[in-house]
Amino acid sequence: MKIAIMGKIHPDGLKIFEENNIDNFEINDFDENNLVQKLSDVDGIVIRTANLTSNILSNCKNLKIVSRHGVGFDNVDYNYLSNNNIKLAITATSNAVSVAEHVMTMILYLTKKIHLSNKLVKTGNFKKKSELPDFFELYKKKILILGFGRIGQELAKRCKGFEMDIIVYDPYVSNNLIIQKNCRPVEKDEGFKIADYISIHLPLDNNTKNLINYEEFSKFKKNLILINTARGGIINEKALIDALDNNKISSVGLDVFEKEPPIENHPLYEQENALLTPHNAALTLESRKRMSIEACENVYYFLKNDKKLIDKNIIS
Ligand code: NAD
Repeated sequence: MKIAIMGKIHPDGLKIFEENNIDNFEINDFDENNLVQKLSDVDGIVIRTANLTSNILSNCKNLKIVSRHGVGFDNVDYNYLSNNNIKLAITATSNAVSVAEHVMTMILYLTKKIHLSNKLVKTGNFKKKSELPDFFELYKKKILILGFGRIGQELAKRCKGFEMDIIVYDPYVSNNLIIQKNCRPVEKDEGFKIADYISIHLPLDNNTKNLINYEEFSKFKKNLILINTARGGIINEKALIDALDNNKISSVGLDVFEKEPPIENHPLYEQENALLTPHNAALTLESRKRMSIEACENVYYFLKNDKKLIDKNIIS
């Protein structure tokens, strides 16, 4: 059995290979020719964010499983895998809490404008606090959660703690589940009109690409704080910049971008009201350890046909 690890992962995950004498090696040169050569005889691949195209995959003669370190899999040609009976695994139980906490951090930072208070004190202007712009509470504010899967549900728990009013748009989960979790299901357009906060937790696909575009920005409340930790491309960035320039919304928190890394001098960098992080919402130390262990276990347990494999980690 031979396993390739594409990208550096926390060493805790590799223990399962080492303890069981499984041949494994790390690849950090993602050039297509290098991958075609290095992956030609592997049985399993653990992959972070590099791209696995059908061209590379068609040269992997022994491949039985690709295991994503994370939950999104838009960097892997899933159609090729399913047409060729190669399994795809994700680390479904590992990173939702980390991302939900990242969203709360962005929401609190943008609501309290805490960086301005910090700057005021450190520049010797303590007495000028009345000159700070208004800042606000989360208490009784409406948050629209778009997508009520693993992360959306973890976020809802945290928003409940702040006594927020939580509305949810996800036509693929039952209204009963949403109500059971103390939230209220809404139609998308109603949610867009009444929300003070919107947080996006959807996959990027043909239905969700540009889901938030010029037209949607015209529906939002002017005080809206918009957060996207899901995938770049769900919010149209040109429309977002237009909305910030023209005060159509209050502010935005983004962990993900249409192009990653974003182009040099991206217009978002100049926006006072944009809080940007480098696609690291899931990368707390705790979450990196869990993802590494779960991604490697998925490969090992699948190849060994071991009952310990978590079924819901395998995308059919
Ligand atoms: P999930 O599959 O558990 O949940 C996604 C939810 O979206 C599902 O409940 C599904 O019914 C719903 N959905 C799908 N299409 C929809 C549509 N058109 N309209 C409304 N709802 C729709 O996924 P998750 O683990 O909660 O992850 C959510 C997103 O976060 C994914 O895009 C994932 O790639 C991304 N993510 C980002 C990071 C990061 O580091 N920033 C980390 C983990 C996940």
